[in-house]
Amino acid sequence: MELKEIADNVYACLQEDKGFGWNNAGYINLGEGVIVDTLYDIKHTKEMLELIQKINPNQIKRIINTHHNGDHTWGNQLFKDREIIAHQYTVKYMEEEKERNLPGLLQTAIKRPHRFPEGMKWFIDEISEFDFSDVDMTLPNHIIEDNLRLELDGFPCDLIYVGPAHSAGDLIMNLPVHKVLFSGDIIFSETTPLGWEGTHENWINALDLIKSLEPKVIVPGHGPLCDLKAVEELRDYFEFIYSEAKKYFDEGLSPLEASKNISLGLYKNWNGSERLIFNVNRAYREFEGTEPWDAPFNEIELISKGYELRTFWEK
Ligand SMILES: [Zn+2]
Repeated sequence: MELKEIADNVYACLQEDKGFGWNNAGYINLGEGVIVDTLYDIKHTKEMLELIQKINPNQIKRIINTHHNGDHTWGNQLFKDREIIAHQYTVKYMEEEKERNLPGLLQTAIKRPHRFPEGMKWFIDEISEFDFSDVDMTLPNHIIEDNLRLELDGFPCDLIYVGPAHSAGDLIMNLPVHKVLFSGDIIFSETTPLGWEGTHENWINALDLIKSLEPKVIVPGHGPLCDLKAVEELRDYFEFIYSEAKKYFDEGLSPLEASKNISLGLYKNWNGSERLIFNVNRAYREFEGTEPWDAPFNEIELISKGYELRTFWEK
């Protein structure tokens, strides 16, 4: 883990992308301190906190959660008494995951993988360095319904709602004077994106909005630091997958068969290329047009299909 200064008083907390859950975060040493996203478990969030305290031992006023996924929120409990800002949909989905004790379920999967289907093993393997046993999901206490501008010692800091794109409550955080943008999981850099709740169109619009903001440095949700070139690449990926999926949808192929037929070219070098199945599946749901963007879907089945796809490629 590295805390890297990317503009005056603005830091990216970077983790190597080792699969599901290895996200990036940030710290702004202005306005009494702002952390952008926590990490997947307490151990890793504490490690980030120690790096932040080397810069400023006593300055954390606010936490921003860019969206609800555990890799961006499950370290929140270390900041219980601070202001934790998120979109209302982030809170809604966190409430649901807390209700079904998702951290406990994943901890069981790590401890007793044999209880889970064969196709889940690669996913469990990717998250096995995390420890969810002491995660007590802590919900945001400052809930926003749209955009919010913070003033940090005179510098503007814009939280912009762009969801539902990667998930329901997606916020990006733009520092226009610093020319830095924290994208949350709207941007995956050199790694395969996947979406949960949301639409293709909203994600494309979010990427176009980021382009229009002209940041010089982007802290992506996953993968190495990047710039607008990564935005362009990601946009091309989505448009390519969407049009390929449409072709196979019209031919009557299943999402898995379609995924096997798509020739990924250079995208094959991105980590987690089997997450393609999530993206094709989501496109199919849109083509069918029978379900809303927030309809529940079977994550375990998709993870297992991702395993099938990976096995198919290895043959
Ligand atoms: Zn993430």
